[in-house]
Amino acid sequence: MDSGAEPLERTEAQGLVYYRHSPWSSLPHGIFTRHGGVSPAPWQSLNLGASVGDAPAAVAENHRRLLAHFGLEGAAVSTLWLVHGADVIRLDAAPKPGAALPKADAMITDQPHIPLLLRFADCVPLLFYDPERPAIGMAHAGWRGTAQGVAARTIQAMQEAYRCQPRSIQALVGPSICASCYEVGEDVMKAMRKRFAAESLAECAVATADGRWLLDLPALNRLDLQNAGLVQIHDAAICTACRCDDFYSHRAEGGRTGRFGALLSL
Ligand SMILES: [Zn+2]
Repeated sequence: MDSGAEPLERTEAQGLVYYRHSPWSSLPHGIFTRHGGVSPAPWQSLNLGASVGDAPAAVAENHRRLLAHFGLEGAAVSTLWLVHGADVIRLDAAPKPGAALPKADAMITDQPHIPLLLRFADCVPLLFYDPERPAIGMAHAGWRGTAQGVAARTIQAMQEAYRCQPRSIQALVGPSICASCYEVGEDVMKAMRKRFAAESLAECAVATADGRWLLDLPALNRLDLQNAGLVQIHDAAICTACRCDDFYSHRAEGGRTGRFGALLSL
């Protein structure tokens, strides 16, 4: 597994600032920072979250700017009503305009021209591309989703739907909260113990003096993907809470913040 920020390229265009994964240069994709949108504080400025108190017109304009950058204005973008679960939606066709959002935290497709778009603010963005089929996937892994194995469930869905081989699936672990910034209680650790072996968990969680834990959520997702057979995993190694100048962080900003976007399309 490789880690570090090297294959990720910080890109600026028309005020938008986002990260590209250089091995995926043939795909429209990006992990967007909070820069380049129209939302005022505390959502400044490229907020894509429609349920965080920001004005709907501002959120719509932010979406428009992001999609226009890729020439995808008016495209049938697929997104989800995030519920912190582990269900995976398979997309065989573009969503109908105005249709209710599926309630799930992961989606996969082998169809071109269906951009996948999800929103984050500390939870772990997981982006997948299998150039052999080809097929793509995207997942949102908070602690509940991580404990339910949403990462591995997405890989399993790509195997079942598109006969993807885990060894050929490339994974990108996006900006998310780091272990130093993510203190959790016994309830979270109890859920993690059901999914991860004790020796693995010991490497991803450090006990604090007052009986709590510092949990490495991106590392647990990498582990879940390795256990699912993936060998090509790149971790952005950017903490949303340490870098809330660039990204939104639910923890670091006391819940009063926006959501940044990750977009991926065949
Ligand atoms: Zn941090």
